[in-house]
Amino acid sequence: MGSDPVESLESRTLKSFQSAGRGFWAHVPDSDWNSWQWQMKNRVTTLATLQKLMPTLSPEEHAGVQLANTKLAMAITPYFFSLIDPANEQCPIRLQMIPRVEETVTAPWELSDPCGEDDHSPVPGLVHRYPDRVLFLVTDRCAAYCRYCTRSRLVSNATGYDFHPEFDRQIDYIAKNPAIRDVLLSGGDPLLFSDEKLEYLLTRLRAIPHIEFLRIGTRIPIFLPQRITPELCAMLRQFHPLYISIHSNHPRELTTEVRDALGRLADAGIPLGNQSVLLRGVNDDAAVMKAQVQKLLMCRVRPYYIYQCDLISGSAHLRASVKKGLEIMDSLRGHTTGYAVPQYVIDAPGGGGKVPVNPEYVLSRNSDRVLFRNFEGRLFEYPESKDGTPLLASVGPYVARDLD
Ligand SMILES: *Cc1c(COP(=O)(O)O)cnc(C)c1O
Ligand code: SF4
Repeated sequence: MGSDPVESLESRTLKSFQSAGRGFWAHVPDSDWNSWQWQMKNRVTTLATLQKLMPTLSPEEHAGVQLANTKLAMAITPYFFSLIDPANEQCPIRLQMIPRVEETVTAPWELSDPCGEDDHSPVPGLVHRYPDRVLFLVTDRCAAYCRYCTRSRLVSNATGYDFHPEFDRQIDYIAKNPAIRDVLLSGGDPLLFSDEKLEYLLTRLRAIPHIEFLRIGTRIPIFLPQRITPELCAMLRQFHPLYISIHSNHPRELTTEVRDALGRLADAGIPLGNQSVLLRGVNDDAAVMKAQVQKLLMCRVRPYYIYQCDLISGSAHLRASVKKGLEIMDSLRGHTTGYAVPQYVIDAPGGGGKVPVNPEYVLSRNSDRVLFRNFEGRLFEYPESKDGTPLLASVGPYVARDLD
């Protein structure tokens, strides 16, 4: 095996930055289009609007939209909607956003709370699974709703979960547990709060002496880059060390608008990571994922996790295989910048936390050596005894071979 072929035309196209454009909203003045409040007010939420904007709606989508409000609401910002290709039913943005009738099919192993978050909640809206950090759910609202959302039991409140986090109880629990040094704000999407409300929450958390590290999980920079205002960035930078994890799945999501919004966050000194969910027909493809991670680096974002899709009810049509995930990881490691290679994890069904899954590199161990392969499939040996103690005497030559 030699070096990678020169980047294909396809991957260069995937990697180019383009504006989302305005699509159906071409007549809207800049002041509206660039206002995040306008974007929220004008979200696509009904079948009637969707049919008007997308006459190419398929019967499966039509039926899916009719059922969405009993499962996970449909909502798409005009900005993000403009990225949908109406001529392609397999458009990666469309697959993530437009409900399909397949969502009503539930396999026996699918659950409404696949990672057992509610069982690990000492107070409502706080998940304490790992010893030193908590997941702090602050809202059930997002700018748009992802059809595979692992928290669709509560997000958008379509199932009547009626999520009402009580910040006083959540913060009190954190304040009384000195083992907690890391708080991850998520939801729903924390960046949908006003600057004032978010500042209030962050101030209260920063006032707890044992909290070292704050982070926010958000898809707002992708759904609603207009929300990343200079005022928001100036507010957030008071709370360092503050990290942000964004959620982006496909290079098409990384527009010039998104790149500029991420640049504003990075300029505020906020380290940015990305989480992707491995989705069938969206990003379960080595060329797409490679373009995605390289494009993220150009947006100053470090790919952090690729998640195996959780076993959320009605997600079978969107879940890609672990086999495919491992192939993709194998196609990244060594083949592109190490910073661009995320960790592939499965959030253990039932609630064991995130477990890394990796292609096999160590092939065998025997009494005097570890046998492993590199990214090209060449074999190497490293001298070491089985129990890890250093070898004192030399035993035979250690050689590199090619793996057939
Ligand atoms: C993902 C997650 C975290 C954060 O995990 P990291 O691996 O530190 O990013 C914390 N708590 C819960 C419940 C989570 O699901
Ligand atoms: S942005 Fe996150 S929380 Fe909101 S619907 Fe998508 S996956 Fe769920």
